[in-house]
Parts: sequence; structure tokens; C-alpha cells
Amino acid sequence: MSLSYADRHDVAVLGGGAIGLAVAWRARQRGLSVVLIDHGDLGRGASHVAAGMLAPVSEADPGERALLELGLRSARAWSAFAAELEDASGRPVGYRTTGTLVLARDRDEAEALDRELALRERLGLRVERLLPSAARRLEPALSPTLRAAFHAPDDHSVDPRRLTAALAVAAARAGVEFRVGQEVTAVDPGEGVEIEGRQVVAAERIVVACGAWSGTIPGVPAVPVRPVKGQTLRLRSGPGEPPLLERPVRYEGGYLVPRGDGSVILGATVEEQGFNTALTAGGLYELLRDASELVPGVLELEVTETLAGLRPGTPDNAPLLGELGGVLFATGHHRNGVLLTPVTAELVAAHLAGDAEIDASFAPGRFTHRAAA
Ligand SMILES: Cc1cc2nc3c(=O)[nH]c(=O)nc-3n(C[C@H](O)[C@H](O)[C@H](O)COP(=O)(O)OP(=O)(O)OC[C@H]3O[C@@H](n4cnc5c(N)ncnc54)[C@H](O)[C@@H]3O)c2cc1C
Repeated sequence: MSLSYADRHDVAVLGGGAIGLAVAWRARQRGLSVVLIDHGDLGRGASHVAAGMLAPVSEADPGERALLELGLRSARAWSAFAAELEDASGRPVGYRTTGTLVLARDRDEAEALDRELALRERLGLRVERLLPSAARRLEPALSPTLRAAFHAPDDHSVDPRRLTAALAVAAARAGVEFRVGQEVTAVDPGEGVEIEGRQVVAAERIVVACGAWSGTIPGVPAVPVRPVKGQTLRLRSGPGEPPLLERPVRYEGGYLVPRGDGSVILGATVEEQGFNTALTAGGLYELLRDASELVPGVLELEVTETLAGLRPGTPDNAPLLGELGGVLFATGHHRNGVLLTPVTAELVAAHLAGDAEIDASFAPGRFTHRAAA
């Protein structure tokens, strides 16, 4: 790069979503000088749209053992992480320890739910089968036609918007420097990053935490991160009415996640549409149709927001954590970036400080090696 160097830092973190903010905070806590650069407002990428489920048990897939272990480790870290972050920022993050209900609406789904339950029991995960009547006692809004249910008592939730807001305050208080509204237009590993084609921020280490955009920056080694679109609705009960649900419910085709303020997130489609975030009538219709079959009262709620976000997907659904081509990746968290925020920040900051290596299962180069084998 032939441009003038405006700044010099130990670490430049690219991307101010949940992952980049948490990595920056933790790296600064380890004594490193950190600058975080985001081309939009902080926390306005996928982290702004996420439902906030912290649900490794209900999402468990036996073909994704390393991801499951990472998710369980992060879920266990969440309580202390939330408390520390609230203390450091003075802001609530909306961490709710309610457990999650998994629901089936007909015989086919009930048979599938039985298999899912047995699988979790084999994996040693805590799950409890519930009679439909018992599930309705927990959540009176569930339909009388509910066929089967289980409870995952360790799957909780957080409000991702409150999370990123708190992380931004905690990181700033710890001494992270922010460059907001500035696009990283090129990366020169070991040297620094170019901003808007005009200026260079020098940094010894570069952390790529640009979510779905992580593979789009010139100079960043090619990694197979792709955008996976998810459409969602935000709904709320009328004034003075009780919240529709106390805990997240999941079912074939979607989920409902209540917040502490009486609103509820209805999500989400899973679409391969590139960087297109258009809302579609069909997408929103299907979300409402499936939800209303299990929670009919959802159709009485006021719609306060509709929006789509881009999950940073990878070929094996696990994140990219580690070095490749002179940069450190902290991306590709797909459906689990909020869940994986505490463990990602801890692993990446420890690696930056030279205190620990990251498990090779998440190496960003793993796909290239597989293809060559
Ligand atoms: C509908 C939906 C529901 C979800 N629900 C859940 C859930 O319940 N639980 C869960 O754990 N996860 C969930 N996720 C996944 C989760 O949102 C993501 O995995 C996580 O937010 C990724 O965080 P991130 O910081 O890597 O990316 P993002 O939040 O997308 O942040 C990336 C940042 O990089 C910035 N950036 C990009 N390019 C550049 C550039 N060139 N220069 C500077 N800055 C740049 C962007 O502006 C953005 O702020 C959901 C996602 C979606 C879309």
C-alpha cells in the first residue's frame, strides 16, 4: 500500500457485529491496542436481525459434533459473560433463562420429535418429554391441537440488539478505538487495512469479523462464507395485555422468541439468495401460517417490524476461527453467532495474546485441505 499510515495498533478488528465487538473487547482486556472498523453503524448486520436463541441442545445435529461441543461450551459461559458485560457497560443484555420448548403439530412431526429426543438423550443432553397438556400449562397460548413436545431446560435466549449495544459501550470504556461508517476497501496482511481507498490503518494483526461479507474484501484470503437470508417479523401484544409466551418455542418451519419487553420475534426463512435482503409476501406468509398452527394468538399481535438479515454460512455450518494467509478469521457463525459470541471472543483474544491455540476443527483452511485430499 502506498498510502500514508494514519494510525498504528496491535489489532484491527474488521466488522462491528456481535463477534467483532466481543473480540475487540476481550482483546483490549488482554492489554492489546485495538481499533474496530465498520462501514455501517455498529451492530446493524445479522446481529441486528437475530432472534437471540442460545440453543445448542434443540439445534443439536449428530453430524456436527465439534460445533455442538463449541455451542455447549459457549452456552455454559453465557451467564457469567452476560453478568460481566452488564457490569462493564451498565446496560442490560436481556439474558433470559427460561429453557426452550420444541413442538410437533401432527403425527409425522411427533415421530420426528421422538427421534430428536432419543438422539439428545444418547448424546447426554438434558431434555424432558412433556405431554401436550403439560406443555400448555407452561405456555397457555399453545394450540389445543398440539401433538407432542419436549423441553430443553438449558437452551436460553438473549436480546442481540441489547447485546451489541452493551458490547460497544464496554469496548469503548476498555479503550477500543472505533472507526464507524468507514468501509475497509483492502487488507494488507501484516501491514494494515485500507479505508475507503484513501487512508491506511496500520495493525500488526487483522481480525476479519465481517459476517456474510467476510469473503468480499480485497486482500482477504478467499474463504467459503456465503450469505444465507433469513426473513423475520417482530410482533407485540396490545397495551395492558400479557406477553404471548414466556419462553422460546421451536417447530418445523420456524420459531417464536419472546423478549422481556412483551415483544416476540417470529423467524425465520432460510434462503440462498446471495446478498438480496428483500422481504417477500410468500416468506412472511409461511412464517405466520406455521406459527399460527401452533400458537393461534400470534395472528392477534401487532406487527412492529419486518426485516431480513444475512447469516454468514459455511459449507459445514461451523465457524472459521484461526489464521489463514496472514489474517485471523472470526466469522462464518451461520445460525449460531449470538450463541457463540462468548467462546469466540475468548478463543480469538487468547490466540491474539499468544496464550492459547484454537482447535483445528475450526481452521479457516479446512475446506481447501479437504478438497485437495
Ligand atoms: C434471521 C436470523 C436469525 C438468527 N437467529 C439467531 C439466533 O437465534 N441465535 C444465534 O446464535 N444466531 C442467530 N443468527 C445468526 C447470527 O445473527 C449471526 O451468526 C451473527 O450475528 C454473526 O455476527 P457477526 O458479527 O459475525 O456478523 P454481523 O452481525 O453481520 O456483522 C458484520 C459487520 O461487518 C461489517 N462489515 C462488512 N463488510 C465490511 C467492510 N468491508 N468494512 C467494514 N465493515 C464491514 C458490517 O457492517 C457488519 O456490521 C440469526 C441470523 C439471522 C439472519
